[in-house]
Amino acid sequence: MAEYILSKSTYIRGLQCHKSLYLNKFRPYLRDKISEEQLAKFARGHAVGKVAQQLFPGGTTISRPGKSSALKTEGLIKEGFPVIYEACFISDNVVVALDILVKQQNGYNAYEVKSSLKLSDVYYSDAFLQYHVLNFAGLKPEQFFLVHRNSEIELNADVELEKMFVFTDVSQMCEEKEAFVQENISSMVEVLKQDKSPNILPGNHCMKPYPCDFRGVCWKKISQSQQDELLSL
Ligand code: SF4
Repeated sequence: MAEYILSKSTYIRGLQCHKSLYLNKFRPYLRDKISEEQLAKFARGHAVGKVAQQLFPGGTTISRPGKSSALKTEGLIKEGFPVIYEACFISDNVVVALDILVKQQNGYNAYEVKSSLKLSDVYYSDAFLQYHVLNFAGLKPEQFFLVHRNSEIELNADVELEKMFVFTDVSQMCEEKEAFVQENISSMVEVLKQDKSPNILPGNHCMKPYPCDFRGVCWKKISQSQQDELLSL
């Protein structure tokens, strides 16, 4: 089984800022404290993911991403297992855990579930990466869907499960982004081979798409007025 250097979350971090990617790997103790709001968001995401699994019931769940999980996923696919939750793949230096993998007549469909009410650029980037890793690992998905909550319908036991979610087929977009993803991975792997963090100054990118959790370190070096300006963006 191949080694890996990046994960879904570190890739998304690297897309925002290479310095954040580097600090996260080699100076994680410098990270700002995680907020209650972020913790609640993780818990919400997990709960919605569990509900969405019932769209394709009877699957088996793979535990946390890593080499043994990737081997287990590989074994289940060889056996032709119909539904796998948190299916793990490692290729091109990246490990990913796909929310739901569902067998089709000639292959598998991939489903990545988001707890939000609409899709954002980050979710597309996440899908592009996962598609690439699956493809590179030899399991090109028949179709890749981003699944998010239907804003018009509450999660409720009385509502038909399918109506609670919106499915977006992003297979074509994933295919078009293959080279782009591969380039990003290569440049991030290079960053992580360096013996010091890249010299990147704070800017608009510190807040988008997410407020960076290394601002406590990086923003120390900039004036209060600059900080206020960045926070107001
Ligand atoms: S605070 Fe800004 S410059 Fe520093 S690591 Fe985060 S995104 Fe990069």
